[in-house]
Amino acid sequence: MKPRLIDPFQRAITYLRVSVTDRCDFRCTYCMAEHMTFLPKKELLTLEELDRMCSAFVGLGVEKLRITGGEPLVRKGIMTFFEGMSRHLDSGALKELTLTTNGSQLARFAADLYAAGVRRVNVSLDTLVEDKFAAITRWGRLPQVLKGIEAAREAGLRIKINTVALKGFNEDELFELADWCAREDMDLTFIEVMPMGDMGETDRLDQYWPLDDVRARLAERFTVTELAERTGGPARYVRLEETGQKIGFITPLTHNFCESCNRVRLTCTGELYMCLGQEDMADLREPLRAFPDTDAPLVSAIEKAIGRKPKGHDFDYSRQRADGQVSRHMSHTGG
Ligand code: SAM
Ligand code: SF4
Repeated sequence: MKPRLIDPFQRAITYLRVSVTDRCDFRCTYCMAEHMTFLPKKELLTLEELDRMCSAFVGLGVEKLRITGGEPLVRKGIMTFFEGMSRHLDSGALKELTLTTNGSQLARFAADLYAAGVRRVNVSLDTLVEDKFAAITRWGRLPQVLKGIEAAREAGLRIKINTVALKGFNEDELFELADWCAREDMDLTFIEVMPMGDMGETDRLDQYWPLDDVRARLAERFTVTELAERTGGPARYVRLEETGQKIGFITPLTHNFCESCNRVRLTCTGELYMCLGQEDMADLREPLRAFPDTDAPLVSAIEKAIGRKPKGHDFDYSRQRADGQVSRHMSHTGG
């Protein structure tokens, strides 16, 4: 299908990330405060509304849906939503249905996800040391996540591990993580910590481990070849020649990916963020709820919003403070 959502910079919007809940069974220190106040239920899009919303985007040429959160797999009844979306895979309109998860519920849902047409999942995991895992996630337990990953592999899902690079926390595990992923045939991507929704507990600059350093460290042990591959997002890839392994680096704080940005983000309350690093958003819940029998006002609100997609974001650490900071949490916009 020809993309119908073209932004003012001639970028075709074909990728929608959808946060289906703001809740989570973990409390990762860089993402949430320990005691969070979550949204009242009536604020959230219902499963039916999520279906209508995503289907409208698919009708406008969105080919890739990534479901995220909060923790998407703690949303009650979420499998109904995945099953509903599989009709767009069957029709060929949707090319990929995927999710980002902390892995805690994968043992329960891996087979159902595969049956709904999901083929790849991103699992976030920052350390392979049990105590450190408990400390960084506060409420998470490593063995449960490892079991989930195993179940996902058995179900036939391809796994990518997402690791937030944290200075003084997982610097010493770089090679262990790379070796583990190579052994288990999983892709690995490092993410730079972003200045989102400051909790006032930890100084983001203290945690900031630039991915150029991670890459340089890898080059001490491996021959690192830059790959041309781009996905329209903030990831760059290299190959480690000795193992053939592909490693990704997500550096949202550099501007070099904005020009090819093909994505927008929908929150669990139906707000559409046209850029992860900007405050501007469009309320899509209003036209959705006000017109239960027609999608025309919703479609028009989506088109209008895409017409405001900015050229890029304003994150910047270069002046030794977290500039361009946005106040919402990652769990709100859905990482
Ligand atoms: N709960 C799921 C998970 O953890 O994979 C999905 C939502 S989580 C918000 C999505 C991704 O955002 C995770 O990989 C997480 O590590 C990352 N993330 C959260 N806060 C971040 C921050 N301040 N900087 C960089 N990445 C962050
Ligand atoms: Fe939950 Fe994911 Fe945020 Fe961790 S990063 S607290 S798992 S939403």
